[in-house]
Amino acid sequence: MVKISISASHDGGNIILPSPPTVTVSGMTAKAKVIVHVRPDVYTELEKIAHMQYFSFRSFVSGMDNIKLLTVEYIVENAHAVSYPEAWPGTTICYSTKSLESEDDDAWKRNLTTKYSDGKLSWTHVHNGNGSTFFSYWPPYTYNRHLKLISDCSQVVSAKKLAEFNPVVESLGTTIEGREMECISVGTGSLVAWIIHRQHPGETMAEFFAEGLLHRLMGVDGEMDEVTKAVLSMYRFYVVPCMCPDGAVMGHLRTNSVGANLNREWATVHDYYEAPTLNRSPEVLAVLNKMDETGCDFFLDVHGDEELPYVFLSGAEKTPKWGERMEHLHGYFVASFQRSNSDVQKEIGYPPPESEEKALAYMNVGTNQVSNRFDCLGLTLEMPYKDCATNPDKDAGFSPSRATQLGKSLLEALENMSPFLRADGQFWNAFSEEDRYVEPTDNYKEEGFVMLKKRFYSDVRPHDQ
Ligand SMILES: [Zn+2]
Repeated sequence: MVKISISASHDGGNIILPSPPTVTVSGMTAKAKVIVHVRPDVYTELEKIAHMQYFSFRSFVSGMDNIKLLTVEYIVENAHAVSYPEAWPGTTICYSTKSLESEDDDAWKRNLTTKYSDGKLSWTHVHNGNGSTFFSYWPPYTYNRHLKLISDCSQVVSAKKLAEFNPVVESLGTTIEGREMECISVGTGSLVAWIIHRQHPGETMAEFFAEGLLHRLMGVDGEMDEVTKAVLSMYRFYVVPCMCPDGAVMGHLRTNSVGANLNREWATVHDYYEAPTLNRSPEVLAVLNKMDETGCDFFLDVHGDEELPYVFLSGAEKTPKWGERMEHLHGYFVASFQRSNSDVQKEIGYPPPESEEKALAYMNVGTNQVSNRFDCLGLTLEMPYKDCATNPDKDAGFSPSRATQLGKSLLEALENMSPFLRADGQFWNAFSEEDRYVEPTDNYKEEGFVMLKKRFYSDVRPHDQ
């Protein structure tokens, strides 16, 4: 008797099964329908919403002994009610038959039958034997893998391989559920670069990026290359690979265990809502305290975007410290990053806020707060859940290995930036035309694209339903 069991008990899992799957057998083949619901995050008091969109579950098939093929239609019935329903058209979900422990990133493929219609996201998968298949909005980056990343970095420190660059692995504090807020610092340069990842826990690509960056910076995979040695003598790096470990384990899209959207917790901007606080956002408080101690000359906050099929950067446009200097630094960084990795592009992204006044209401966003607090270049990096339209690959989509590679490519861009981050005068006179700042637009004209009325960073926007 064919049986399909659905579970989301692995760390980072998220799904609800409202009713048992139905299976119909006909000769040597069988068909089934599996209806699932995305489980909402804990309610966010500031935004008055329970976010949801990330899902990850295991489908375990047994009893196929007399059956050759089992064709299953998977339906996310509440897809219309997620935080960004506009993002579904053009999305292909990811699946893998390998175990999550295998860390075989290339085993994840895209299901090209994925479609969004009548408010439901669905796809068809043919199972040709007993066993488990994982389905995810994007491949999970598990907490076990996170612990392994920290342990790999710690081993470099204890083996004294990088002693000349003074590497340190430390905990800046603990989360509400008691997980450590690990930070890896390394380098002897006078510039301080802070790179943080995964404030939004469902944006798992951000921690794949962190893994690539840390493996290269710490020489985890072997010998150090010349660019890495050069940047380690220009900068001291502070890298937080996971800002929201509680939310990550819980399979949340955007919040920690008490519903705080960490990328709206970097300052108090409403008199009715204090941020960051030890009770609600200890993750941000710990990092900001350490940053106040070290200072900051470059800040990068790594994320994923549900809707736009591009890698792009969003800056601190129209905030008080934005001006000619910041605009040129921003343009030069994006151009340098594009030269080191062709997945980066500058035309498509979040349009800047329309006024200085609007920008002020978003000083609780990490990039805006840090950039203004330290008068430094600050950027948010967004990677796509979808395929990357700049270098399309429909079978793998924008994949974990692409995110990892992007993390490694950051070092070339930072090598280019070092003479200018704290330079005086009109240093940008030496920049070329291709280094200039380009104001991004979100009108990417994909089929089915609906021009949004207003986009403020990644806030949930009112949509017609
Ligand atoms: Zn995000």
